[in-house]
Amino acid sequence: MKAVRFFGHKDVRVVNDIERPVPKGDEVLLKIGGAGVCHSDLHIIDEGTVVGTVFTLGHENAGWIEEVGENVEGYKKGDAVLVYGPWGCGHCKPCQQSKENYCDHQSEQAYGGGLGLDGGMADYMLVPSSRLLVPIFDLDPVIAAPLTDAALTPYSAIKRSLPKLMADEYVVVIGVGGLGHVALQILREISGAEIIACDVTEDKLAFAKQLGAAYVINSKDADATEQIQKITGIKKAKVVLDFVGATSTIDLGTKVVSLDGDLTIVGLGGGHYQYSMNGLPFGVSMTNPYWGSRTELMEVVGLARQKKIHIEIEKHKLDDANEVYERMRQGKIKGRAVLIP
Ligand code: NAD
Ligand code: ZN
Ligand code: ZN
Repeated sequence: MKAVRFFGHKDVRVVNDIERPVPKGDEVLLKIGGAGVCHSDLHIIDEGTVVGTVFTLGHENAGWIEEVGENVEGYKKGDAVLVYGPWGCGHCKPCQQSKENYCDHQSEQAYGGGLGLDGGMADYMLVPSSRLLVPIFDLDPVIAAPLTDAALTPYSAIKRSLPKLMADEYVVVIGVGGLGHVALQILREISGAEIIACDVTEDKLAFAKQLGAAYVINSKDADATEQIQKITGIKKAKVVLDFVGATSTIDLGTKVVSLDGDLTIVGLGGGHYQYSMNGLPFGVSMTNPYWGSRTELMEVVGLARQKKIHIEIEKHKLDDANEVYERMRQGKIKGRAVLIP
């Protein structure tokens, strides 16, 4: 079968000689409908965040059940499902609570298809357990794939700050890409706070306005901080969601977040932050959440089925993976690119 393989630093190739896996025991074989292209792939490809193994990329996956191992019950061929991405041990307390994104054993094992193990940028994908599948019912797996990360990750980040996102508060969203454009819609639907969105191009800022941002600011502007402070006034922003995670955006976040606010850094942009007592307002919680839980993914499917969130999608072939990654490096993708076998 065809697959987009990561061979090492900046070496991604589309190959045709991968054997189609056969599921055993708890395993499930999926026929892939779509595999989303996440910026985290670029951190793997360009910066070597996963080293020493060759594997198939794609950690945002959806498809149809093709075949199940002898122990799998409750699924039949043709069922449309999402693949929950962070694969934990399945047994520890966080895993039992469905929070496999915080599995106790995360540091011990390669976990996650497309993150060291074979992912979904291929005709078929082997999932280690049906526990990791979430049914999508009438949703199309081609369109639904990004729900597993581009929607789940901001959903989980927003949910933990929800009590602070009241109608008299401001929330700042930095980066209106794959994750950020869904974050705006989730905020619009489940929170009351007024949204200020930041990106670095006029196109992305116009897009943010369409998705519910009340204000847009180009974070390249030298006075971006002052522009945001002028909007929020003395109370500042109760929540900042940073989908870039560069030193400059973290710095911006620390200057616009309010007393007792949340500064949530989702982006893995390699930024640095040096704590100093005067550098952060009192009471601020600074967090670096990772993905979301299995049950939160079910809630995200609910949002999509109710048409409260819509993922803006560009469709591409597996063969075009390298071109798509290049467009992502240049910030040229609107919403999410999805590779379709
Ligand atoms: P993307 O490439 O689709 O979007 C990034 C957006 O940020 C683009 O619109 C770009 O123009 C904008 N941007 C770049 N520099 C900026 C700046 N200085 N100020 C404002 N905007 C800026 O990326 P994505 O797939 O949405 O991923 C975003 C980040 O989140 C990546 O670092 C990715 O690795 C990370 N991520 C983290 C998790 C997690 O669980 N923590 C999960 C998925 C992705
Ligand atoms: Zn991702
Ligand atoms: Zn675990």
